[in-house]
Amino acid sequence: MRRLGLRRDPPAPPEFGRDAARARLAAREFDLVVVGGGITGCGVALDAAARGLRVALVEAEDFASGTSSRSSKLVHGGLRYLAQRDLSLVREALVERERLLRNAPHLVHPMRFVVPLFGRDGVLADGLVRGWSTALWGYDLVGGVRVGRRHRHIGAGDARRHVPLLRSDSLVSAFVYWDAQADDARLTLAVARTAAAHGAVVTNRAPAVGLLRRSGRIGGVRLGDGTEVRAAVVVNAAGVWCEEVERLAGVVPALRVRPAKGVHLTVPATRLPCDTAAVLPVPGGRDSVFVVPWRAPGEHGTGGAGRFTYIGTTDTDYAGPLRTPLCSAADVERLLAVVNHWTTANLAPGDVSGSWAGLRPLVDDPTRSEVAPADLSRRHAVVSSAPGLVAVTGGKLTTYRRMAADAVDAAVDALGRRPDPARRLVDRRRTAALALIGAGGPPAPPRAGGVLGVPSHRRHLFGRYGTEAAAVAELADADPRLAGPLVEGLGYLRAEAVFAARHEMAATVEDVLARRTRALLVDRDAAAAAAPAVAELLAAELGWDRHRVGQEVAAFGALVDAERAALRAGAGVA
Ligand SMILES: Cc1cc2nc3c(=O)[nH]c(=O)nc-3n(C[C@H](O)[C@H](O)[C@H](O)COP(=O)(O)OP(=O)(O)OC[C@H]3O[C@@H](n4cnc5c(N)ncnc54)[C@H](O)[C@@H]3O)c2cc1C
Repeated sequence: MRRLGLRRDPPAPPEFGRDAARARLAAREFDLVVVGGGITGCGVALDAAARGLRVALVEAEDFASGTSSRSSKLVHGGLRYLAQRDLSLVREALVERERLLRNAPHLVHPMRFVVPLFGRDGVLADGLVRGWSTALWGYDLVGGVRVGRRHRHIGAGDARRHVPLLRSDSLVSAFVYWDAQADDARLTLAVARTAAAHGAVVTNRAPAVGLLRRSGRIGGVRLGDGTEVRAAVVVNAAGVWCEEVERLAGVVPALRVRPAKGVHLTVPATRLPCDTAAVLPVPGGRDSVFVVPWRAPGEHGTGGAGRFTYIGTTDTDYAGPLRTPLCSAADVERLLAVVNHWTTANLAPGDVSGSWAGLRPLVDDPTRSEVAPADLSRRHAVVSSAPGLVAVTGGKLTTYRRMAADAVDAAVDALGRRPDPARRLVDRRRTAALALIGAGGPPAPPRAGGVLGVPSHRRHLFGRYGTEAAAVAELADADPRLAGPLVEGLGYLRAEAVFAARHEMAATVEDVLARRTRALLVDRDAAAAAAPAVAELLAAELGWDRHRVGQEVAAFGALVDAERAALRAGAGVA
């Protein structure tokens, strides 16, 4: 229970429901309305609400349904940006990593990384150890060591204790350093709910289909159902859809987004065991691939492997449909080739139990079209292409808070408020130590054998719900039908689907199986088998009739079929 309880928990949102939010969206006038419920947009809503602004957020589909549920799930400075000599980006990200470890300790936890060094006949290439040592000293000095441990050089035996299948014939030694890992979709949701707790009006399933014009400025958004949300400033945080939203204003977008596809594969941990993440070089290339233990649901701390290991990522230009990037047979081949080169796992496509593909909203530099996506900057950009319209894109999951502060500064300027520098500094720091929903807070009355009101056999819930675990456990304890597994073989409870519908705005089977839980990403077949039961649980909560239940099960089946077809046919290759 590292650091739980040290910070003040914000009040639980009095209401985090679509109907109430919709009514308030139509009735009120806002300072700003945010378009996009990924980590960036949710961060903007939280920052603005914490500054006391009247803020609304509209998300077209589900929170984190775009890129923010499809990342590598690392909260890190990024060693590669050090190699690109972008020290300020690394420093900024490492500062944010520490804030996230403090503000959301239930969702973000330290993770050890092993960098294996391979050579021939026990001999490493000249300068390899020196090069890594310099890089990792640099990383530690820039801020990596803040996590509490600095890097070390270890022997091959020690490295194989963490990642047992590393090839013993070529492994010579390794470095160890520390970063952090997070459940990206649940982090995004926690930021959205914390924003609501601070007064933001937040809803999913509310696409902005038009921008309102008032007095010669952008003055709000029109939603798909015709609702008009009036606001003095619109913040476009639509990720890879950023240009699409800009065009709703009838202006030439002030920035270009270049979507770059990245995929991840999940395999059972029995096929690729590791209790530590590993960084494997792409043979003959400059890139590397992460092998990362997927913590069992709720598994905390730094030791112990989950039941799955994931492998990623790739970085390729993408020109397909933005909603449904898919992992192709070629992507699988590419990633497995790297793993099979450096380990004895001998993985085959049949070992892959889950996969996901995401699109990085990289800010393009049209003057440098020859630059590979991997070499494009991960910095974010805040621009204004029309009075009353601010766009923010690029960046990383890790740096969302910083992006949000920059975007809200621009929105405040667009409101004409222009605070003095001292006030601005105070405002920008309002979220720096602000605990997210589920972090800390006064403990609930203890139960026999449990902590924070959660019995010990339900402790795995902490890793997803933090202090709200007590509420989920209570659902399961009150109704034995909710105490059983949601997805066979995974640690999720049926009560979690009910909690998701009541308190997390889950509205589809996919919401529950892909983002409130991550079942689809780790075990596609098990998730598909659970879909009818999840639909029944949601039907009871959301009042679905038989027809709707059938539609929902079919929609989830179609998603799973599309993933399977892409893996077979090589579709989805950009
Ligand atoms: C493969 C991969 C690995 C990555 N790994 C890491 C990592 O390990 N660590 C890290 O820090 N970062 C990582 N990133 C980067 C990080 O995931 C992204 O920078 C971040 O998730 C982008 O968030 P966003 O909110 O800007 O975009 P999104 O999450 O895509 O959110 C945009 C939202 O806007 C909504 N939207 C679009 N149009 C409309 C409309 N008209 N009306 C309303 N809503 C609309 C969409 O539905 C979507 O939910 C990775 C990215 C990828 C692709």
